[in-house]
Amino acid sequence: MSQQSSEPNNRFNDSLELLDLNEDGEVNFTIKNHALVGKVLSEVAAKHLTINAILRKAWKFPDLECHDLGKNIFLFVFQSLEERLRVLGNRPWAVQDRLLVLKEWLPEVAFEELDFTTEDFRIQVHNLTITLITPKNIKKIGSLFSRCYGSNFNKKDKVKWDGHLNIRVAIRVEDPLKIGFILNRKSYKPLEVCFKYEQIPKFCYKCGRIGHGEKECWHDMSFFKLSGRFRPWLRATHTWKERRTLNPLNTGEH
Ligand SMILES: [Zn+2]
Repeated sequence: MSQQSSEPNNRFNDSLELLDLNEDGEVNFTIKNHALVGKVLSEVAAKHLTINAILRKAWKFPDLECHDLGKNIFLFVFQSLEERLRVLGNRPWAVQDRLLVLKEWLPEVAFEELDFTTEDFRIQVHNLTITLITPKNIKKIGSLFSRCYGSNFNKKDKVKWDGHLNIRVAIRVEDPLKIGFILNRKSYKPLEVCFKYEQIPKFCYKCGRIGHGEKECWHDMSFFKLSGRFRPWLRATHTWKERRTLNPLNTGEH
């Protein structure tokens, strides 16, 4: 949601009357439990019927309702809360290889107020050693993103370690993808730790942004040393199997 402000909206002026309107509880319930709002991240206008047909098939909900709200934003109405939660839990989604940024629509918020600048992704962190997988370190790595919800790390079953850490984060969709970080080590030379994104749609190999390809890129990258950093290796080749297993960051260890 966008930042709420106590200042009056500057489109209005003192001459307008102030009204108290009562909310419709039934509509609120339907929106809260059965609806999501999505924005297709593309410069090209998304076609409502195409979006509806693709998502009905992808989500396996033949009764999905899809309403065009304009500017590539769509309202999706599900038959049940379970359907809605399943779609939310399996983000990110894409339509014709363009990211669909999904948001919950709180009943008291107008859809124009929704913030589509972030989307949730599952990211694999490669090149870490098992001794570095601690809650404190996971928090530090998660702080590189807009938000980190948790990881698949569980202190009790470190033996399940399969070579990389899985974290679920929110990323800013208009920023270049984060490719990793340099790990500073006392006894060894610095090591590059790499991120791989699960289910990532089309992204630009030139500027590293989601939503367009290299040929469509309008960003002038001549001043940045980013050439060659954004390549297919940012795409995870397999997905986190235990997708439902997410351990929150606050585990008490510091
Ligand atoms: Zn680009």
